[in-house]
Amino acid sequence: MVMGDLVTEVDVAVVGGGPGGYTAAFRCAELGLETVVVDEGKRLGGACLFEGCIPSKALLHVAAVLAEAARAREFGVDFGEPRVSLDPLRKWKSERVVGKLARGLASVAKSKGVEVIGGRAVFEDSRTLRVEGEAPQKVRFKHAVVATGSRPATLPGLAGPRLMDSTAALELAEVPDRLLVVGGGYIGLELGQVYAALGSKVTLVEMTDGLLPGSSPSGGGPRAPGSASRRRARAPTTAASSRWTRSAARPTRTSWPSATSRVSRCSPTGRCARASSRPRRSPAGPRRSTTSPSRRSSSPTRKSRGAASPRRRRSWRDAP
Ligand SMILES: Cc1cc2nc3c(=O)[nH]c(=O)nc-3n(C[C@H](O)[C@H](O)[C@H](O)COP(=O)(O)OP(=O)(O)OC[C@H]3O[C@@H](n4cnc5c(N)ncnc54)[C@H](O)[C@@H]3O)c2cc1C
Repeated sequence: MVMGDLVTEVDVAVVGGGPGGYTAAFRCAELGLETVVVDEGKRLGGACLFEGCIPSKALLHVAAVLAEAARAREFGVDFGEPRVSLDPLRKWKSERVVGKLARGLASVAKSKGVEVIGGRAVFEDSRTLRVEGEAPQKVRFKHAVVATGSRPATLPGLAGPRLMDSTAALELAEVPDRLLVVGGGYIGLELGQVYAALGSKVTLVEMTDGLLPGSSPSGGGPRAPGSASRRRARAPTTAASSRWTRSAARPTRTSWPSATSRVSRCSPTGRCARASSRPRRSPAGPRRSTTSPSRRSSSPTRKSRGAASPRRRRSWRDAP
């Protein structure tokens, strides 16, 4: 077929079939507008379904199961050492989890009369899209929605087979003995947690003065990987520790030697504090969740600073 032979005329053309695009398309269809979605992959779901939220949550579930099984030894139930087979795991993630949801989205689109066109959309003018790909065509529209999402950022000068972006990491080609995660946002933390649970020794580097940059300090810090008590794995929250973060113009590192045993945090100077991720009981009863694990650790950093009054505690992100 010659490019431009096929012309589809619609009320709304949505470029991008991710959560932004398909929700807009479904709503437009519900309002009675003739709507098409143009997506490079000819599928609905976008990064979230195929390379993001869903596969990462599926693997986090696996990490949680591994941690739960390890913790069961505390009350005398021993499942033995887990053996993780990557092929069935990948198959389960792709077919049972992602595939099922993708089929569900496709059928919702069909039921609403939203057509999905495969190919890369390029605006020719303010009323026309050119769709490039296996079935080149044009889409003439009255209104357009651009929901083309984002791509993983790359680090200049770094390339090679040992480097994975989040999409590649979720494919689980292998579980390396040691893994460096660059970026302490939720994606880095999730992937670090997954690989730690699967057996990698994970070190995480973050250039800002805290993990989950941009999130509200009161929203809670990252959880200790595999922590039954879901207690916080925040950086130290004492007044003294905020000095530590103030000087943290250099990367802050968090490493997970094992998802189920310990959490380590390393100060910018390389000194690490380890804390058991098992829930501890105070003599007076269950531990209060307001206490950071770092306050109980034998961190050399903390020792040199002494204990701070809880009233003076500040979030590490409060530090200027
Ligand atoms: C590992 C990971 C975990 C995440 N976890 C969560 C989470 O738990 N919760 C959460 O809310 N978010 C999460 N996110 C973020 C979430 O995936 C994105 O916010 C979301 O996918 C953005 O949706 P979108 O529709 O804007 O774009 P996308 O999902 O990126 O979709 C854009 C679509 O547009 C297509 N496209 C791009 N350009 C063109 C073009 N020219 N022509 C045709 N098609 C085109 C792309 O192929 C893609 O299918 C996660 C992301 C990652 C990577």
